[in-house]
Amino acid sequence: MANSTIRAVEIDAHGTVSVVERARPAPAADEILIAPAACGVCGTDLHIMKAEFPQAVYPVVPGHELSGIVVSPGRFAAEFPIGSLVAVDPNVVCGECRFCLAGRPNLCVKLQVIGVTRQGAASELLAVPARNAFVVPDEAGPEVAAMIEPLACAVNATERAGDLRGRRILVMGAGTMGLLIAVLARHLGAGEVWVSDPAEAKHAIAYAVGIGTVVLPSALAGEHFDIVFEAAGALPAARQVMDLLHPMGIWMQIGVHAPETIVGVKPFDVFERELSIIGSNSLADKFSAAVALMPQMREAAQALVTSRFSVWDFDAAVQSMGEAGSVKTQLTFSTNS
Ligand SMILES: [Zn+2]
Ligand SMILES: [Zn+2]
Repeated sequence: MANSTIRAVEIDAHGTVSVVERARPAPAADEILIAPAACGVCGTDLHIMKAEFPQAVYPVVPGHELSGIVVSPGRFAAEFPIGSLVAVDPNVVCGECRFCLAGRPNLCVKLQVIGVTRQGAASELLAVPARNAFVVPDEAGPEVAAMIEPLACAVNATERAGDLRGRRILVMGAGTMGLLIAVLARHLGAGEVWVSDPAEAKHAIAYAVGIGTVVLPSALAGEHFDIVFEAAGALPAARQVMDLLHPMGIWMQIGVHAPETIVGVKPFDVFERELSIIGSNSLADKFSAAVALMPQMREAAQALVTSRFSVWDFDAAVQSMGEAGSVKTQLTFSTNS
């Protein structure tokens, strides 16, 4: 008999993290049951732990960048054989509102997010809608499969920036998102790709994934780019963008700032140089595109996984994100390895 309870990490409304016993998830008719196998942590988890993420529904079982092993596929046995590796799109959407119909499910009016508003991966078992699960070849491995979610966010950002071929590109911020965007931009035929980051410990990782020019932000003075991806989510970076754009340049905002942050923009500059300011929020409908792309991005994705913690040390995993030279921290699930 299967146990009637599972262990899970829970964060309460005060940000307190504890390991609790919860009822074993009972998958609905449209869901499959998986055992999480790897899960990235990111800034969203930190905001949830600081109890400063208004979308979160407490108590939260966190974990939204996940891969898992199929335990019980219900009526989806043909698509999801028991034991197969899946990556999971964390955005559970209605499929019917005008944003869903326009290919912007990230803006769905009924958006539910695994690990934010419904149970996440930091647990022994998890029920997910079958339509959110994607079988990934075993040879990818759980860690790379768990990088598909951030890769999908990078795909969304590059698509929103338009045709990158031959363009001179700067990515600000050598974190997971910035480096995935930079590697993807090269793959998409960008001309020159620069990465900037004030943390020199991250420069070596950027070079290791094939970026040719990695600089401190101070070295950008006088340089100009066709597209600047602001993936740092840091005020000094956002303040620098306007001065770095060529005429017809694009400011692509993907880094997450505090909602109250303000940076000055001169309307005259936007007018005179015909600049565009575009946002990219989450992964929209790009998850399957990222699954298809992963074989080409696999080496870089693997190289970006720099820290691993047991899921039961969730607190320590999230704290590790601030460490110099750390890019992606993932949770490990010993029961599946
Ligand atoms: Zn994330
Ligand atoms: Zn919708």
